[in-house]
Amino acid sequence: MASHTPSQRYLSTRGGSYSLSFEEVVLKGLASDGGLFIPQEIPSLPSDWATRWRDFGFNELAFEILSLYISPVEIPPTDLKSLIQRSYETFRAPETTPLITLNEEENLHILELFHGPTFAFKDVALQLLGNLFEYFLVRRNRGRAGKERHHLTVVGATSGDTGSAAIYGLRGKIDVSIFILHPKGRVSPVQEAQMTSVLDANVHNLAVEGTFDDCQDIVKALFNDPIINKTHNLAAVNSINWARILAQTTYYIHAYLSLVRSAPSFSENSKLRFVVPTGNFGDILAGYFIKRMGLPIEKLIIATNANDILHRFWQSGSYETNPVHGRVVEAGVKETLSPAMDILVSSNFERLLWFLAYEVYGNKNDINASRKAAGEKVGTWLSDLKTRGGFSVDPSILKAARVDFESERVSDTQTLTTIKKFYHSVPPYILDPHTAVGVTASLRSISRNPPLQTHHISLATAHPAKFADAVKLALGGRDGFVFEEEVVPVELRELEGRERRVIDVGRGVGWEGIREIVVEEVEREVEEE
Ligand SMILES: *Cc1c(COP(=O)(O)O)cnc(C)c1O
Repeated sequence: MASHTPSQRYLSTRGGSYSLSFEEVVLKGLASDGGLFIPQEIPSLPSDWATRWRDFGFNELAFEILSLYISPVEIPPTDLKSLIQRSYETFRAPETTPLITLNEEENLHILELFHGPTFAFKDVALQLLGNLFEYFLVRRNRGRAGKERHHLTVVGATSGDTGSAAIYGLRGKIDVSIFILHPKGRVSPVQEAQMTSVLDANVHNLAVEGTFDDCQDIVKALFNDPIINKTHNLAAVNSINWARILAQTTYYIHAYLSLVRSAPSFSENSKLRFVVPTGNFGDILAGYFIKRMGLPIEKLIIATNANDILHRFWQSGSYETNPVHGRVVEAGVKETLSPAMDILVSSNFERLLWFLAYEVYGNKNDINASRKAAGEKVGTWLSDLKTRGGFSVDPSILKAARVDFESERVSDTQTLTTIKKFYHSVPPYILDPHTAVGVTASLRSISRNPPLQTHHISLATAHPAKFADAVKLALGGRDGFVFEEEVVPVELRELEGRERRVIDVGRGVGWEGIREIVVEEVEREVEEE
């Protein structure tokens, strides 16, 4: 198969490292120059994919796509199949990520990504990432015992979704410990119950007196600390890990083929738009990769809430953390009804910037010079972001960005209106607030693109039961609406009474105190093994 690239290598978006293997980029997470890892080349789908893969299930598609990025020398095909199988057998839906038609006349479909263990789309990537970590570590540790074993210590901060999905992805994995810091009393009750009721010995929840930003500062301090880095291999599970992006490409192609098989009005001449509720730009970036690989997607639509740095970029070409409205400079993250998208800057956007710079400033006849130019440009932009709070790109970059993407910003009021609207449609459908941001953006896109020729697939990123406040705000007080009965699945109801384990961290403890906790807990775990 000519399209296979058995020697796929990776480089850093800031030009500092080249030619790394998949294993290296997965275990390292972030490049040593501060950049993110990207594949040196984006492979193409094989020419016969549309016919040969037509009836493939989710796991078979995942295997085909991942094989284009992971050399069979690194992970033999039988091992890769088994990793995929184990990652997705934890999903409750037989199709893993089912496609549901929300409105037939408008050709509006919804891609349900929340059938994994924590009822959020992050499970799709983190279930696989956990198994990859374990696979690489166990292989490195063959023939080693006790303290000689290579041990990975994952440390992360969460405001809810990432932490629970990471814990479920890593629980019980050999040679990996996970520490998740959450702001005490500030994550939703469902998310708190999900995280703290996982009792595996390698899972450590730290409830920190303070805010999410305090948690993030502690994690950053640990990653920058030479002392713990001497004795522990720290790893991150946030969406900068390349394996997470790669894992997410599968559901785009799976959704496309579901549409081919099931929607009579979808033909070769139809246009397809994916609409993605966006925060860190990880979910939609997977869509960009699969589009570049050859999946016929007309546009990818970025849907943001009031934290709209991406939307403003697509309007103006300026990426600014502190927008000036009138004469008032706004600062900080805004709290919205879709908290998993409340971000100030989108970390994965850097990856797109690299490809745009490569395309615009590169030289077709000299790949190495083009890579260097792209890395330098990205380095300059990101340094301006850090020192000046933003940067502006040339019109040619903005033009290139608009080829594949459009953007929409959705307010909390509009989010609630959309949740109400679909609850009252026939049959009723209950949207979570993040999904509702995407569906609102879909409705706007539909109004501009006649549904006769265009299909929209709106990504559903969480189950409504996870975000009770917003759903109750939208639907509470309606005749006979009882949230617990209509929305909450039995798996989440059962969590209430479960035993919990959590380490309380008082205000005075500080990051050095947390370092001590991490060191002690890992020590105890390794001794018990
Ligand atoms: C993380 C998350 C998002 C945002 O995804 P990004 O990859 O960060 O853009 C949207 N919705 C939910 C429910 C999430 O948990």
